[in-house]
Amino acid sequence: MATVRVRFAPSPTGLLHVGNARTALYNWLFARHHGGKFLLRIEDTDVDRSEARHEAQLMEDLRWMGLDWDEGPGVFGPHAPYRQSERLGIYREHTEQLLTEGKAYRCFCTQEELEAERKQAIAEHRPQVYSGRCRAVGEEESARRAAAGEAFAVRLKIPDHPLRFHDLVRGVVEFPNETVSDPILVRSSSAGSSAGASGGMPVYNYVVTVDDALMEITHVIRGDDHISNTPKQVAIYEAFGWKVPEFAHLSTILGSDRERLSKRHGATSIASFREMGILPEALVNYLALLGWGAEGGTREIFPLEELIAAFKLERVTASPAVFDFEKLNWMNRHYLKECDRERLADLAWPYFAQENWLPPQDVAGTDVHAWFDKLLAIFVPSVDLLDQLPGRARFVFDFDPLRARDEAENAALLESESAQKVLSAFAEKVRAHAGAVDPAQFKAWMNEVKTETGVKGKELFHPVRIALTGSHSGPEFDKLIPLFEEGSGLELPVHVMSLRERVEKFLAE
Ligand code: GLU
Repeated sequence: MATVRVRFAPSPTGLLHVGNARTALYNWLFARHHGGKFLLRIEDTDVDRSEARHEAQLMEDLRWMGLDWDEGPGVFGPHAPYRQSERLGIYREHTEQLLTEGKAYRCFCTQEELEAERKQAIAEHRPQVYSGRCRAVGEEESARRAAAGEAFAVRLKIPDHPLRFHDLVRGVVEFPNETVSDPILVRSSSAGSSAGASGGMPVYNYVVTVDDALMEITHVIRGDDHISNTPKQVAIYEAFGWKVPEFAHLSTILGSDRERLSKRHGATSIASFREMGILPEALVNYLALLGWGAEGGTREIFPLEELIAAFKLERVTASPAVFDFEKLNWMNRHYLKECDRERLADLAWPYFAQENWLPPQDVAGTDVHAWFDKLLAIFVPSVDLLDQLPGRARFVFDFDPLRARDEAENAALLESESAQKVLSAFAEKVRAHAGAVDPAQFKAWMNEVKTETGVKGKELFHPVRIALTGSHSGPEFDKLIPLFEEGSGLELPVHVMSLRERVEKFLAE
């Protein structure tokens, strides 16, 4: 195979969502699998809707996912510029070439005339295809009318043969040429404007083809919403005498109700996944499997290197893929467990700093860092997403005995005589003790309380747990006690009460 060159060509009109992110990923995987090039091209010819902040966010999202580009904005490349708004001169030259060669023509039809044609076609049950009547306007007359400032669009002459292309996902796709209007290449300039002899703004189908050809794209991998555009693009390749690339149109992504995935189904932007605390490797692994499967297997966990090695476009399915938030969460849980301790702390810290429970990470002392590692070891295994951590660990920072006592189930448990006995015996031990409290010390106390009060099992442990955490269920004491331990060389974060403080505060309420 000649050197593979693929591109991701987003329009910076909003956030990057899973559909486009998957397109970017498949392009990237394909390029990396074949040792080819992955290009990023910004399609910003829709000036009203394109915004620099969307472009910046988009690039940040791609970088976060690890999808680096070999050519594109911010990276040197032989086909620069890679932003379409900076390539208007190139499109104009190509339009002039097509007009000169008689492969395209100026269309002077007004909106009203086109509308009338459409209505008539509907009335006669014919396909709504432009009649092509401006093809008949002579070259001289066309130039004269343009020079006189009459508004016109530029259209391509659709050839007399069916338009076909090869799709690696769907096989040969063919459109009869009678169903395709002479496509507009350049939108109508307003009358009297100084758009010149080749008209106003070029349209998507045209610029995408010019760019794909000039940038030597070998495989166009994109969403199947572009299938109906492809015959027009094929006609443009043919008009220039350019080689038509291979295509791979990826199936639509659906929600669980089998409707097209949208906001209704939940957060689907890459930025929101990142905010929730999905790890990029989890998202990449999940998206890779959303419409692709490795040969002969049901394997689901694929580290990136193995994805690259296994990825083949032939294994992309044509049927729609259903986005399963649960499965993404499951994968995230897997990767959270694999995550290196230091990186995990960096990723999780902001969620706690945001609650004002921890100082900014860079000013926190080593004690707080070490303490935070212990906290993460307890709570990370119980969450799907990093943003669930503060909720799980709330009682560690925000201990409220009154609220704990008021909670119905707790109140019932604390009412009993045995609970009272256990708590006062436990408090006595704590008060009589001067040094640090480690899990062994805690265990010894509980044994003593058990012997002294004759209370055991749940009746013994629940009241103590409520007094220390505000709830009768939660992480094992062996893990928890070190979080409330002071004086053993580790200083607790300011918002965290020690075991002793907890007991005193609970009994005082
Ligand atoms: N800018 C187009 C889009 O975002 C690109 C489509 C294509 O890949 O050709 O849908």
